[in-house]
Amino acid sequence: MAHYKYLIVGGGMTAASAIGGIREVDAGGAIGVITAEANPPYDRPPLSKALWTGKKTVEKIMRPTPAGVDFHLGRTVKDLNISGKQITDDRGAAHTYDKLLLATGGNPRRLPFGGDSIIYFRTLADYQRLHGLSEKHGAFAVIGGGFIGSEVAAALAMNGKKVTIIMPENGICARLFPADIVAFFNDYYRQKGVEVIAGESVTGLEGSGTNFTLLTKSNRRLSVNGVVAGIGIAPNVDLAIAAGLKVDNGIVVDQSLRTSHPEIFAAGDVANYFDQAFGVRRRVEHEDLANTMGKAAGRSMAGAEVNFTHSPFFYSDLFEIGYEAVGELDSRLEVFADWKEKYNTGVLYYLAENRVRGVLLWNVWGKVDEARALIAAGETVSASALKGRIAFE
Ligand code: NAP
Repeated sequence: MAHYKYLIVGGGMTAASAIGGIREVDAGGAIGVITAEANPPYDRPPLSKALWTGKKTVEKIMRPTPAGVDFHLGRTVKDLNISGKQITDDRGAAHTYDKLLLATGGNPRRLPFGGDSIIYFRTLADYQRLHGLSEKHGAFAVIGGGFIGSEVAAALAMNGKKVTIIMPENGICARLFPADIVAFFNDYYRQKGVEVIAGESVTGLEGSGTNFTLLTKSNRRLSVNGVVAGIGIAPNVDLAIAAGLKVDNGIVVDQSLRTSHPEIFAAGDVANYFDQAFGVRRRVEHEDLANTMGKAAGRSMAGAEVNFTHSPFFYSDLFEIGYEAVGELDSRLEVFADWKEKYNTGVLYYLAENRVRGVLLWNVWGKVDEARALIAAGETVSASALKGRIAFE
């Protein structure tokens, strides 16, 4: 049994950033990381973007691993004994701690059929499996039109693959974009050779190996060599619930990123925190949150005063279109689009009750801080008055 001053459960970007945060405050305290992942921490966004365009390599996405950190890879924590300050993993190994961070992220939601024939795209191993398949085979189905679905479909198509994307909503990124932009994206993907099947559910998968038939509700049969799904994640809260920590759509943390137990912290996809800019509790599943909250949690664990107030941004690359966004981006909100060139360069403002709640910067760069400030100001504004509010070229 090892004792760690700082023990981290989970080995993703949040954990990597927490290690950096701890080391800013405490140069020598022993750190242990227990993760189900087969690899030490790496940046996740390139898995569905830059690794497919050659802009990054697997070596380049690995996060630096400072000396003095023990990684226990391929292990899942099964028990958290709060009074004994001890965790036990799936092979019966136990470790004790002074401070614990739960950076357990989320697990992909799964369909009720298809088993492991479907690649639920989340990890480096998933990327390597799909990339390996794509080197030998030509036809792929992508289930889900959210972040993973839209990015992986674009990545495969850019590599010359025949791609069919299927989603229950009316099109690509329908949760994010108003109807006219969703229609634009459906056409854009079709022009890039992707078959877009919107408003359709998948009902079964036949076949094995690299010869599958994907069945849909309206009796389509799609012959493909591989099936990828991105149908959302569920926060990994089982350990926290079993240990009696407060959980409500994620592990509830305060501004110092402490859970309901003062020696246990949580951060990243799994954490439910109070977003000061919005005045609401929320859970955010994006890289910037993992990095900033992870670092803040590490500092907090090591004894620094922490008041986490950051508003995370996110970004995507879909063929030649790229965007950065901050705040609440929900297609049900009122959206004012300030285009320089329609569907090419512009700023989208998302409003609720005449206040800007989110900003999407479409092929517009270097404006995230301005967008953050606009949301934080919380001023009452009419949609049309936003024209030119964030100036861009
Ligand atoms: P997501 O963005 O929430 O999208 C899930 C999509 O799957 C939604 O369009 C959803 O439709 C659809 N869906 C749900 N159930 C389905 C079903 N049974 N059959 C077919 N489609 C179904 O989640 P994701 O794409 O899986 O991404 C996973 C996580 O990775 C997210 O947390 C995301 O934020 C993160 N991620 C972020 C980025 C980025 O920031 N650029 C990139 C990749 C991944 P409904 O809306 O109708 O439920």
